[in-house]
Amino acid sequence: MDSLKSEMKKRYDALQAEIKTLCLKNKRPLDSVKLMLVSKTVPVERIQEAIDFGHCLFGENKVQELSEKEPIFRASNAEFHFIGHLQTNKVKKCIEHASMIHSLDRLSLALELDKHLQKLGKTMDILIQVNTSKETSKFGVEPDGLLKLVREIAPLSSLKIKGLMTLAKFSSEEEIVRPCFQLLRELSAQVRNEGIPGVSMSELSMGMSSDYKIAIQEGATIIRVGTAIFGKRNLPDSHYWPET
Ligand SMILES: *Cc1c(COP(=O)(O)O)cnc(C)c1O
Repeated sequence: MDSLKSEMKKRYDALQAEIKTLCLKNKRPLDSVKLMLVSKTVPVERIQEAIDFGHCLFGENKVQELSEKEPIFRASNAEFHFIGHLQTNKVKKCIEHASMIHSLDRLSLALELDKHLQKLGKTMDILIQVNTSKETSKFGVEPDGLLKLVREIAPLSSLKIKGLMTLAKFSSEEEIVRPCFQLLRELSAQVRNEGIPGVSMSELSMGMSSDYKIAIQEGATIIRVGTAIFGKRNLPDSHYWPET
């Protein structure tokens, strides 16, 4: 019965439909944009609800929280990507749970990841996070340093570079947000043109609740949406993106 559909499921269905519409409008294949639900601070019951209605890709920002929620993901086929700032001392726990890391932004972290993955005989799909907004509070490699970092990470055989990730400048103005996404797409093309062995640039992880439309227009393949589905968070975003 449709009247029993939860508000969350209604928002979810509307968003999935909108993604398809945006793909059509932008002459992109209908399945070219994956929706990740960002479940940071979201109670497990709500995550479970999303899993129950068939959603299977989630994003978490904190290793501690990821570990706590892990049992419900393990119990289903849901996949978890790590999208937050990763401290080197949390690497071990992170790779136990996550199936992709979107926020690799420095060589020291890559080396630490590779060390632990090699021990486990595992590989990990990763995205390189780029600071496209010139905001010091955002993590990510500077655009100028991207190619060098990719070249340094590429030989680490446990890490499979699949693309790039960014957070646009927080602004309601399209002309401030869009250039961040355009820059990420251009950087991705540049890296692809280098033809570095083992490096794929198939994913562009960009766009959140406030700016996913622009991100899809600019070529996002993964959008990371939290509040638009789960509602407002109790903790301010500074909890997740502390000032550097
Ligand atoms: C919190 C967060 C999101 C989702 O933000 P919303 O505005 O709630 O959609 C996406 N990406 C990252 C890296 C985040 O930390």
